[in-house]
Formats: sequence, C-alpha cells, structure tokens
Amino acid sequence: MTPNDEPGAVVGDAALANAALRLDTGWTIRWIRRCAEVLAANRATLNTLDRDIGDGDHGENMDRGFQAILPKLEELTDETTPGAVLKLVATTLISTVGGAAGPLYGTAFLKAAGAVGAAQSLDATALVALLTAARDGIVLRGKAVEGDKTMIDAWTPAVNAASAAHTAGSPVGTVLLAAADAAEHGAQATEPLVARKGRASYLGERAIGHRDPGSQSTSLLLRAAADLMSQR
Ligand code: ADP
Ligand code: MG
Repeated sequence: MTPNDEPGAVVGDAALANAALRLDTGWTIRWIRRCAEVLAANRATLNTLDRDIGDGDHGENMDRGFQAILPKLEELTDETTPGAVLKLVATTLISTVGGAAGPLYGTAFLKAAGAVGAAQSLDATALVALLTAARDGIVLRGKAVEGDKTMIDAWTPAVNAASAAHTAGSPVGTVLLAAADAAEHGAQATEPLVARKGRASYLGERAIGHRDPGSQSTSLLLRAAADLMSQR
C-alpha cells in the first residue's frame, strides 16, 4: 500500500479541492456546460426510463434544452453573475423544452436565480438557498410531494442533505456532494413507488419497478455540479 492508497489521502484531496472551490460565474457556466455533456451522454438512458413509464421523450427534452443553452453562454458578458446564468438557463428551458420537464426545470432555475440575486459567488448558505428555491419552484408548479415518484423525490432529499451538511458547518463543496449523493439515492428510491403525478400516474401499479426519469435527470444535474469540485 503506497501512502496515496490510504483513505486519509482521499479525504485530504477532497479537503484541498473544497478549500479552492469558488462557486462564481465561471463555475456556474462550467456546471451548465457539463450538464449539457452529461445529458447528451444519458439521452438514450433517460428516454428508455421514460419509455417504461411515460412517452419516451425525457432524454430528448433535456438534451434539446441544454444544447440550446450552449451558444447563449458564449454571448454572456464579463459582468454576468451566477444568477444571470441561471436565469438564462431558465428562459431557454421554458422556451425550448415542451412537456412537463421544461416548465418544471425552467421554474426551478428561475427561482434559483432569484434566490442568489446579484451575488458574484455562492457560499454554502447561498447554495442551500438556491437548491431550496429550485425545489420549491417545482412544487409550486407541479404540486408533487415526496413519494409521488417525480423529480421531487430527488430534489427534496438533496435539499435536506445540503441543509444538514451546511448546519453541521461543512464547506460548500461538501454541501454540494451531500446534495448529489442524496439525489442519487432519492432517484433509486423511486423504483418501488406507484406514481401519483405526471404521465406515469396513468399506469398505476405497472409503474412499480421503474425509476422515475425526472428524478434521474435531477440526480445527473446535481452530480455534474459535485464532479466539478475536483476539476477546476
Ligand atoms: P412529459 O411527461 O410531458 O413527457 P418529460 O418526459 O420530459 O415530460 O418529463 C417527465 C418527468 O417530469 C417525470 O419523470 C417526473 O419526474 C416529472 N414530472 C411530471 N409531472 C410532475 C409534477 N407534477 N411535479 C414534479 N415533477 C413532475
Ligand atoms: Mg416524457
């Protein structure tokens, strides 16, 4: 075993990455670019999940929306803030993505933009506010509660875990990781559920055993953010 194989070395690396992490405008743009990459790579998988319990277009919807954002990111000026980037994502998703997911994610990003205001960089408090506002926006729009087998089943555990990590005094990168891990578990945990909202609710018990596609895309978006911790 070399010194680098020791568990302590991994923790040390994460601590280093955490200390250097600044969620500024550049970071926000990198996050959205990575979301576009990850959604393109997972387009078929998300379509398949949606084919099982919906109409098979969730991957297509998310990929189209995030691809439409990419050229707009190039037009941003130096004065752009993280909030302005989030607002651009919101308006693009609302205007390019149909179905349930466009308005829901559009509202999430719009509320997130409102929560961070004109801040140049997001600390852990702002990150928790961003995630909470995004989740609350989806609830306001779609009226789903936890357990309805929707994207809320990824968002709410993510908000709770981020909030708990922040209350425990964790730095922003750790808060982000907690959110991503919780969203991933939340998406997995939709599999045994019967859907009570969206197209999948028409299936009754036939939805059991299938993961909700929107919870999976939420998990991918938050994982994309957490992954940027080690890539500056
Ligand atoms: P559509 O269902 O119109 O084809 P998508 O396939 O893009 O739209 O998105 C489906 C996803 O939207 C679902 O997997 C679910 O997570 C989410 N969803 C649907 N209805 C709601 C709702 N009322 N609240 C929260 N999320 C919802
Ligand atoms: Mg669909």
